[in-house]
Formats: sequence, C-alpha cells, structure tokens
Amino acid sequence: MRVREKYDVVVVGGGTAGAIAAIGAARTGARTLVVERYGHLGGVLSLGMALLGSLDGEGYWALGGVGRELVARLQTIGGATEASIDPQFGSVLGQDPELLKLVLLEMAQEAGVSMLFHSTVVDAMTDGRRLTGLLVANKRGLEVIPATAVVDCSSDADVVAHAGGSFAFGRDGDQLTQPASRIFRVGSVNMDRVWGYLAEHPEDCQAPEGWTGRDYDIDYLRSTPGASLEGFASLIDKAKAAGDFHVPRARLGMNTLPGRSEVTINITRVHGLNGTDPDDVSEGEVAAQLQMLEVVRFLRKYVPGFEDTHIIAAPYQLGVRESRHIHGRYLLTKEDVLEGRDFPDQIGRGSYPLDIHDVKPDAEVLGSKVKGGGVTLWPIKKSFGIPVGCIIPRDLDNVTVGGRCISATHEAAGSIRGQAVCMVTGHAAGTLAALSAKAGTFARDVPIALLQETLRAQGALLERTARIPSAPGIAADVDAGLEPTRL
Ligand SMILES: Cc1cc2nc3c(=O)[nH]c(=O)nc-3n(C[C@H](O)[C@H](O)[C@H](O)COP(=O)(O)OP(=O)(O)OC[C@H]3O[C@@H](n4cnc5c(N)ncnc54)[C@H](O)[C@@H]3O)c2cc1C
Repeated sequence: MRVREKYDVVVVGGGTAGAIAAIGAARTGARTLVVERYGHLGGVLSLGMALLGSLDGEGYWALGGVGRELVARLQTIGGATEASIDPQFGSVLGQDPELLKLVLLEMAQEAGVSMLFHSTVVDAMTDGRRLTGLLVANKRGLEVIPATAVVDCSSDADVVAHAGGSFAFGRDGDQLTQPASRIFRVGSVNMDRVWGYLAEHPEDCQAPEGWTGRDYDIDYLRSTPGASLEGFASLIDKAKAAGDFHVPRARLGMNTLPGRSEVTINITRVHGLNGTDPDDVSEGEVAAQLQMLEVVRFLRKYVPGFEDTHIIAAPYQLGVRESRHIHGRYLLTKEDVLEGRDFPDQIGRGSYPLDIHDVKPDAEVLGSKVKGGGVTLWPIKKSFGIPVGCIIPRDLDNVTVGGRCISATHEAAGSIRGQAVCMVTGHAAGTLAALSAKAGTFARDVPIALLQETLRAQGALLERTARIPSAPGIAADVDAGLEPTRL
C-alpha cells in the first residue's frame, strides 16, 4: 500500500467547514492537505442555497474570519448579495454557487493548501487515543496518509467513527434524523411573472407563522436580495388533488438572485434514512431524483413563470441534514443556542435559526399534531458562543471537528448545521489543529487564549460587537416575539 507524504494538518472533507478549515490551518503556518471525495471545494455550500444566519436577528454579525472573507470576495465579482436582515432567518445572503467554488479554490491555493481530490477516507489507524494514519480509497487503490493533526469535516464524523471515537446519532431515544433533500437549480424562469402571480395570490407567499418582521408582502420579497421564500402551498394542494404531486412537503422552498432567471429549488424530501449507510443513501437518491422529475413537471404545469424552465444544475449527491454528532468535551444544547449564551472558551459565534425539518412526514411537533411536511424554526435574536469543547472529541487526542457533526444535541444541531456556523467551526477546527501541530501538543492542550488571539487576528468574531450599519427597526421587530415559526 502506498504511503503518502506527511502533512502537519490533514483536513478530511473540503466542504463548507473543511475548505475554510484548510485555509485557516494553512494561514496559521501548517502544511495542509485536504482530502475530498469529489472534485471541488464547497460541499453543500456549493448547491446554491442562500446563506442564512450570518447575522443574528438584531443585525449583529456572527460570521467572521475566512468565511466572511469568502463572502466579501464573492461580492466584489457579483457572486453574492449583501446580507439583508430577516427576523426569522437572522439574515439572508444570496450566492452564486459556481463562482463560490472557484473563489474558495483560489483562496485555498493562495494560502498554500494542497488538494487530494477524488479520494475518500475509508478507515483510520490508531494507537490508543491517537490517530496515526488515514486509509484513503481512490483510483490508485488504497493509500495511507500519516497523520499529525487531523480535522474531521466529513459532515458525518467519518474520521471520528473510524478511529473508534464515540458519537450520538440523530435525536435521543429513536435516533431519527432530519430528512434529506436533493437541492437543484432551474433556469429560464420568468421572475416578473412569478412576482406578478404572488402579488395577486398573497396566500401563496404568506409570512411564516409567527413572523415578526416588516410587512411580508411581494414588495418585501422582491426587494430582498437573494430572497428565500417558502410558498405556493395552494398550487401544491391543487397538484396533490390531481395526483400530480407526491413529495411529502407542503410548500416549495426557493432562493432567487437579483436580475437572474435561475432559481434554487428546495423541496424534495426523503425521511428515515441513515446518511452514513450506503444502501439507505442509494434508496434515498432514487427517491429524491424521481421527486426532482415530478417537481419539474409540477413547476411547468402549475407555477406561473416556470412554464419554460429546465434543470441547470443537479447536486453532486443527496443533501443529508443530520447523522452523527460527535461526543465532544462540551455538548451544545438548545438552551445555549436560544438564550444566546457566551462562554469564556468560545471560538466563534452562531446565529442560524434552530431549524428542524419534521423528522417524520406526519410530525408530532410542539406537543400537538400539525400538518406534516413542514419545518419548525426558532429564530435567534442574539447570536450564541460556541465553546472549544464542541470541536474536540472527548476520546481522541489529535483530532478536531468542524461542520454539522460537532458536539451538539439534535435540537442544537438544528442551528449549528447552518452554513455560516459550519464555516465558523471549520475555521476554528483548522486553526486549532495547526496550533497543536506546531506546538507538538494535543488540541485540548493548546492555550485557549492563543487560539482565540489567532482566530481574532484572522478576522473571526468571538464577541457580539459588529453590527451592520443599517438595521432600522430591527430591535423593535425582534422584540415583538420569538416564538417558534412553522414553515
Ligand atoms: C438539503 C439541505 C438544505 C439546506 N439548506 C440550507 C440553507 O438554505 N441555508 C443554510 O445556511 N444552510 C442550509 N443547509 C445546511 C448546510 O448547508 C449544511 O449543514 C452545511 O453546508 C454542512 O457543512 P459541512 O461542512 O458539515 O458538510 P459538507 O458541506 O457536506 O462538507 C462535507 C465534505 O466532506 C466530503 N466528504 C465526506 N465524507 C468524506 C470522506 N470519508 N472522505 C473524503 N471526503 C469526504 C464531502 O464530499 C463534502 O465535500 C442545508 C442542508 C441540506 C442538506
């Protein structure tokens, strides 16, 4: 078996968290390698959904550091909109996924990150609590990558699981997880016709239940750069009655970009699969791909403005919202998130709403039966701190973790899975790995003051201090209430 050269830091997974982790590690002085099973950086971040929750509900930034720099660089080339305040989602920021992948690659190259694409980590070698090497499968066969410090950004905590680290799966009790969806993009959409239809049919773009923001009408949606809309419920009902729609979802989620005729569609949904089980995932792919076909037929037949639409981008794989949550040195809870708690050892902030898609098609939510096929959303008024213990597995010495599999309960994971938060935890996990490799110590032994100082020097936001200049009326809106919302 070929043994590859040794790096200071190996990042497994070059997705939302991993790409940022690698850039952070390299900027901290580590020779860094990313191992990624596909041929590009960005992971789920590169599917075209709006970046939600980069600001909290009062207009304070939670996203800083390398992730914020990515957004700023995209904005200079028309690849991202400004963040607009949204009391339910904190903020909405539209982005162009193709430009995003390329800018991320450019930033990684500039930082000196080495890439090993089309290679999957399939096992880990250990010596007690220490990970000594990674087993990688690619076209050459099996290869070994010796490990100094490893960052697990595989989204499913593959490294932690292969190394024998402990983890929880889904929610306590029944291990059910949030459903999976295939996100896809369609083109040739006549947006004037779409907005015109919604202006005449406000019932098809109703404000989410519990909405606390400014008037939620067509003017609001049209003027929000990169609007994120859940609508067309009456058209879905009509199509269901005619036998034309079988997806277990009540509304169509879509993200728009100003001046563009392309739209990102978030509606397919598969319940009850284990995102780490290849047989389950294969079944889910089949189901979700056939749903895509039905959705395109639905869009063309039922939704004004989509008559001539066609698919312009299918995702590289089914989007898994939840699987393993590592057992870390700290377990983030729903209360930590909703109360906007701060911690002396925090490594960044999160403000993505606590966003839980019904784990079953007929959901028992909030203690009473509600119509299934929805999402329960707890807005975040004040961003919360993320303690360093969430990114350090409690039973492995030289591994840090970033992204949606960090140490959090099923509920808190509904928030930390947001793209902005994944970039924040990725940045911290990569930087911590680099500092530990440099000092020849374990992640848990790196002085927290050194980690925090290094992150701040790279633009990370550890305190809630930076507010967008114009946030008129936001505090008043948010004070109106923060009850959970049903989408
Ligand atoms: C369907 C869906 C819709 C969502 N909508 C939104 C939204 O609108 N707004 C928002 O802010 N957030 C949204 N989210 C949440 C957010 O996009 C994800 O939680 C987040 O992007 C996950 O980041 P990550 O780095 O943990 O994983 P990913 O971005 O998935 O990155 C993991 C990377 O690791 C690679 N990998 C995995 N295993 C291995 C291995 N063994 N070896 C090598 N490489 C490996 C993968 O190929 C991938 O590139 C959505 C998520 C889903 C699934």
